[in-house]
Amino acid sequence: MTPQTQRKILAHTAPFLKTLSWMFEPFYGGLGHVLTFHRVVTDIGEQRIHNHRTLEITSEHLERTILFFKNKGYSFYSLDELFDRLTLGGINEKFVVFTFDDGYRDNLTVAYPILKKYGVPFTIYITTCFPDRTAILWWYMLEDMLRAKNKVDFKWAGTQYSYPCHTQTEKEIAFDNIRRFITQLFSIESHDEMYRAVFGNFQSNLFAPVSEFALSWEDIRELRNDPLVTIGAHTVNHFPLKQLDDEALGNEIMGSKKIIETQTGLAVEHFAYPFGKATEASFREFEAVKSLGFKTAVTTRVGNVFAEHKNSLESLPRISINQVTEAAVLELQTSGMLPCLLNKGKRAVAH
Ligand SMILES: [Zn+2]
Repeated sequence: MTPQTQRKILAHTAPFLKTLSWMFEPFYGGLGHVLTFHRVVTDIGEQRIHNHRTLEITSEHLERTILFFKNKGYSFYSLDELFDRLTLGGINEKFVVFTFDDGYRDNLTVAYPILKKYGVPFTIYITTCFPDRTAILWWYMLEDMLRAKNKVDFKWAGTQYSYPCHTQTEKEIAFDNIRRFITQLFSIESHDEMYRAVFGNFQSNLFAPVSEFALSWEDIRELRNDPLVTIGAHTVNHFPLKQLDDEALGNEIMGSKKIIETQTGLAVEHFAYPFGKATEASFREFEAVKSLGFKTAVTTRVGNVFAEHKNSLESLPRISINQVTEAAVLELQTSGMLPCLLNKGKRAVAH
């Protein structure tokens, strides 16, 4: 079953399932939640590769998400407030933390005015090669290439790869397969060459998408002047960390912290793992982040935040807000019903 089908089933069954969610709330609801956003756009536009674009939500969707928590009486926390709540304790109120990964320009132009209107504190985790304009946003190029072609062929390390993409379904499957290919066979020495092999003549300027979609340092400095905004680190190059040796791992984590601190003049104390699934960041990466002195770090593991997380502040779970995460699905997530099922009954998902 493709992730797209899973999401469709979830969206359709959520209104019925949510009538059972109250049973999970006392044990799996937790103290609060950290939400993951990526892009916030004014218009989703034409149908594209769903598995890629599903991480984009509209400005109305962002507003509905804020109101969902506001109407339930939640407190909106910054990451520093989350840290204090977990380490020092505090009043018994439900909280929610808004976080945005990567550093997309629409976080400033589209999301920020809405967050400001409601006084919602939020964090943007910056991948520093985005504002440095040295990032290769291969996932945008991959989407464009799959939409334009009926078949993608390339040769890598002596093996010929071929992906049919005549139909929308084939394009969705090819996107997932090539994404897996790129992240799993990735190496620092050869990644540039790999992109050239995969994209061939399709995109001659591998740096074109970053200028179009990413925040500049000037944008980031504008944001950091607002006390509502926390700037966190998300590595230098958004490499899959498991594929790096220890030295490169340290450079990716510490490098991004230092670059952001130099550019903004503020201490960077919060971190997000790129590709934070269990197969993409785990014990070694968590230990590295912990030893480098960050107050918190977040994964993409699905879960709510519990008091026990004070012992694993370097691997906090989150709830991803995507195109299907409307009220009914959000109810399943925040009640803990969905995380309970996905995590086989485990409450505090640390590793
Ligand atoms: Zn990311």
